[in-house]
Amino acid sequence: MTTGAWTETFIDDRRIGSALEKSAKPSKKAVTELLAKGRSLAGLTPEEAAVLLNAEGEEARAAIFETATRIKNAIYGDRLVFFAPLYLSNYCVNDCVYCGFHSSNKAVRKKLTMDEIRGQVRLLIEMGHKRLLLEAGEDPVHNPIDYLLEAVDTIYSVKTDKGEIRRLNVNIAATSVEDYRLLKARGIGTYQLFQETYHRATFERLHRGPKGDYRRQLYAMDKAFEAGIDDVGLGVLFGLHDWRFEALGLVSHAEYLSKAFGVGPHTISVPRFRPAASVELTPGFPVSDEDFLKLIAVLRIAVPYTGMIITTRERPEIREAAFRIGISQTSAASSTTPGGFGQKGEQGVEQFALSDKRTLDEIAISVMKQGYTPSFCTACYRKKRTGGTFMDLARPGDIQEFCTPNSILTLFEYIEDIASPESKALGMEIIRKSLESIENPTIKEETEKKLERIRRGERDLYF
Ligand code: SF4
Ligand code: SF4
Repeated sequence: MTTGAWTETFIDDRRIGSALEKSAKPSKKAVTELLAKGRSLAGLTPEEAAVLLNAEGEEARAAIFETATRIKNAIYGDRLVFFAPLYLSNYCVNDCVYCGFHSSNKAVRKKLTMDEIRGQVRLLIEMGHKRLLLEAGEDPVHNPIDYLLEAVDTIYSVKTDKGEIRRLNVNIAATSVEDYRLLKARGIGTYQLFQETYHRATFERLHRGPKGDYRRQLYAMDKAFEAGIDDVGLGVLFGLHDWRFEALGLVSHAEYLSKAFGVGPHTISVPRFRPAASVELTPGFPVSDEDFLKLIAVLRIAVPYTGMIITTRERPEIREAAFRIGISQTSAASSTTPGGFGQKGEQGVEQFALSDKRTLDEIAISVMKQGYTPSFCTACYRKKRTGGTFMDLARPGDIQEFCTPNSILTLFEYIEDIASPESKALGMEIIRKSLESIENPTIKEETEKKLERIRRGERDLYF
């Protein structure tokens, strides 16, 4: 536990510990009441989320899942947004024990040139991607801010006959307000940074280098907000500390951001530890599939408005189960090696191993068979629906009025430009059903008109 005012943070170990202790073996009544509150889209405090995390038994589990499913559908409908990570450089001065890019790994490093970035982006566009997540290790010499800014410009500049990248989210190390301002001015979408673990002693034990500063990591979002970035993404690496503590760390962070800035996290990511070459760590708190799915569902109930992200770290069957209980965004057809797209076999230093190696089209087919609409939508930040404006739409579920037609339009672009015959057939059926589900006659009519314009060759139409 932290002692003394100078080390205090909004993550209060005592509060989290006591919430978990007091809610051990919760009554059925307590669980039922909190699920009713969850269904009202009001979200949960850390103390309330602790009750659900501690609820045991099949009946409670089924009720938690059912509530999470309802909430995801009430807010975001049945769209599932796709993106891909783009790793620019695996140079890193930090020695995080769980990451393949850690500095004591002496394998040869790779940093993409602007030409190589253009090549990778072309490949991603050809696959159908419109939304990327830029990733790079922390290294002021090899990956200075000027390199990252030039990369952002380069990525946005690539146009092919299959389209362009329309939203670039960024996941780089905690940095200065000035650097965040520069990134914001380049038109980035969400700024993502994971706390990895909210447990301070564990954090300090597992990190060496500038990232070892717990407070720098924890308050990076404050600096991003100060710089005008108002969409931020949180996450932890599950497996480093007790998963219940970490889940409550996320809920506490969301609560803090909401109070301090009036804007909760735009996204929450839930990566679980995965092995990587040269990583010797055996995670102290492995999270079973069963607990993993439960924590996703509880986070969805506790922070209902947030975009929840799962990546290709996870096996297809876990991803599919997670889509049903709250995940709203997913990576597809990823590589965690700089320059890894389009390469076969040995590719160099990877950040972690992937479990889902299917192509984007194969993943699109599988989610459509589950009844979801693959979406390549990037409309909100381009329409200035960010920060508080986004929250005002997402909290009551009104964002769906935009998500549904935009998912239809971007899926139709994908069908026209890229899809295999199988995904084309499934996609047209999904579009037909989704169109039927639009209740507002004006939006429905506008969507139909835009579909017709896309059929005639126009692109990038959105609400
Ligand atoms: Fe570097 Fe990030 Fe990997 Fe740590 S987790 S070694 S900061 S790339
Ligand atoms: Fe995301 Fe906004 Fe598009 Fe919905 S409308 S998918 S929230 S960008």
